Amino acid sequence: MPGLDFLQKELDDLKKQGLYQPLRTLGSAQAASCVVNGKKVVNLSSNNYLGLANHPKMKKAMIEATEKWGAGTASVRPIIGTMEIHTQLEKKLAEFKHMEASLVFVAGIAANRGVIQALLSSKVKGEDEKFVVISDELNHASIIDGVRLSKAQRKVYKHKDMNELEKVLKESQGAPRIMIITDGVFSMDGDIAPLPDIARLAKQYGAFTMVDDAHGEGVLGKNGRGTVDHFGLQGKWDIDMGTLSKAMGSLGGYIAGSQNLRDYLIQSARPFLFTTAHPPGVAAACIAAMEIVEEETWRHEKLWSNSKLFKTELQKMGFNTGRSETPITPIIIGDEVKTEQFSQKLFDEGVFGLRIVFPMVAKGAARVRTIVTAGHTEEELRFALDKIKKVGKELGII
Ligand SMILES: *Cc1c(COP(=O)(O)O)cnc(C)c1O
Repeated sequence: MPGLDFLQKELDDLKKQGLYQPLRTLGSAQAASCVVNGKKVVNLSSNNYLGLANHPKMKKAMIEATEKWGAGTASVRPIIGTMEIHTQLEKKLAEFKHMEASLVFVAGIAANRGVIQALLSSKVKGEDEKFVVISDELNHASIIDGVRLSKAQRKVYKHKDMNELEKVLKESQGAPRIMIITDGVFSMDGDIAPLPDIARLAKQYGAFTMVDDAHGEGVLGKNGRGTVDHFGLQGKWDIDMGTLSKAMGSLGGYIAGSQNLRDYLIQSARPFLFTTAHPPGVAAACIAAMEIVEEETWRHEKLWSNSKLFKTELQKMGFNTGRSETPITPIIIGDEVKTEQFSQKLFDEGVFGLRIVFPMVAKGAARVRTIVTAGHTEEELRFALDKIKKVGKELGII
């Protein structure tokens, strides 16, 4: 019996293609400068947009809640795992997002799977096969997973192409449910989805809308309330999905929307029903995160001034930063091998920027993706820029 022997071949194949990625390990807290595989580097690859992951108030909230409520919940939410602190978090989130209600999942990936599947299921046998879900071609993997879990017809429109979206909506008329789903900020390019146009088309053609705001949270809108707030679309957008794992510095996914949406998902979203609730410390840290965001508004301002400085300098040096409009700034190199060398040499110089190659982006669109945060000092940014320039010249990229 060969058993698991196939694993060796699979791993060898990945290594041959240069796609094998060993885990790198942090030897310090997540921060603008940190220790990666034993080496001190300026970190350009975290989602710690507002520098909250190691914030004293977050840690204090977590410790205090742990003292009071314990280390874990030992139950799923619908049985006996919903503590008052979970409910407080959901109230706080709904207020923060200016929506009627919210529901928290253990992670963003669980929220996407749960919401999409639940809203595209029907108790009428066979009806769900008539539903349609329409997705931007560059949507995140967790959205794709959610879509795959449903039986709805899947349609994809070209990135941000509203003419194509309208065409697909026209073709889909007559379907009992039509869902449009998009990232708010696209994670590989840092550009923003045209939510007002999507909302208008959805209304015209009887569809409902969902945004995955994992990279818009803490970044866009007043004090970082997200992409829906950025466009002032509260009341005109149906489902605001986000994560507490990135800018909010802890862990979790959530949806914000109507009370009916929350009530329905509690009955039907499988990744809500069948997994253990967050430890109370996590819920407390997330509540603290929203308080900090509203008290320390300088963080949001610093995130943007740092991003602008960094992006402008990269462009002045002659790097291709694509269509980025947010703190996610790709340095697009194209060639996969050169991108790997660029990333490696940068690391040797003390700067960590993740290389991103096929299948995360198209072949020939390889890049190093940078994300600066509110936690970076100007000195750290200038250090990173100097090294990027040096290595870019050595490799003939600029
Ligand atoms: C990171 C990410 C998620 C997953 O969020 P987690 O809370 O880390 O599970 C979902 N969608 C997008 C666009 C993301 O970037």
